[in-house]
Amino acid sequence: MTPRHGLLRGKVALITGASSGIGAAAARVFAREGADVVLAARREDRIKSLAEELRSEGARAEYAVCDVTRAQDTVAAVECAVDRFGGLDVAFNNAGFGVGRTPLHEMGDDLYDQIMDVNVRGVWNCLQAEISAMLAAGTGGALVNNSSVGGLRATPVAAPYVASKHAVIGLTKAAAAEYADRGIRVNSVAPGTTRTEVVGAWFDAHPDMEAALHQATPQARTAEPSEIAEAAAWLCSDRASFVTGATMPVDGGFTMV
Ligand code: NDP
Repeated sequence: MTPRHGLLRGKVALITGASSGIGAAAARVFAREGADVVLAARREDRIKSLAEELRSEGARAEYAVCDVTRAQDTVAAVECAVDRFGGLDVAFNNAGFGVGRTPLHEMGDDLYDQIMDVNVRGVWNCLQAEISAMLAAGTGGALVNNSSVGGLRATPVAAPYVASKHAVIGLTKAAAAEYADRGIRVNSVAPGTTRTEVVGAWFDAHPDMEAALHQATPQARTAEPSEIAEAAAWLCSDRASFVTGATMPVDGGFTMV
């Protein structure tokens, strides 16, 4: 059995985009840190088997099939936490995607809409459902949105992604300001390039791009998904009790230089 620690002991956590990459790593880190977890994503096979894996290690884990662009799905995911575990204390709004490397003037409106829909409306839907549940319970809570280094600075040929991730930081600050007096903290993480399945496959096909990214990063490497998850877990925990409206770069120094 995996040893379980206590950063999130007694907390009920919702993690979106938990079927792969950073979200799946977060599910493991949050459960290991003592949280009861609800895993949300569209690929049921993946979240179901991850929930089973976590249960086999002694955690309490449920899953909710959820498309974050549909408000009713995010409400249902929050209801899953309330029904199964008695409430919602923390959430990592991580679901998102980006298809980069298309010049702005050549990118179709469909792709722009899709990126905005998942990355901005998705976080919007999550915040609405989560904050409503927290206000109803009157217990406060902590929310972490997954932005990107693309939310802090521009990278070429990824305009809608950059715009969407700047918007995530705007939503984070607006929600933090609005609900601070009711005990709800809202923060963002801004990951640098992280070696998920998709990114790993892309680097395998373009080793020159990986080398260039390493050169632009003081720590000269990409992140492991668990390194982003650790930052999100801390921001969700009571140890970050005076942190709200902040965006934490987790990027090996990429945005520092
Ligand atoms: P993955 O593609 O591995 O994971 C993306 C997750 O988001 C999947 O679980 C996917 O689940 C979910 N998702 C996508 N669309 C939806 C939707 N409409 N409704 C619900 N879930 C959805 O990528 P990463 O782990 O890399 O990405 C996670 C987050 O991290 C994203 O917000 C991304 O922008 C951000 N990020 C990633 C970086 C990186 O280098 N990897 C760098 C900076 C930020 P499913 O398909 O099952 O629905």
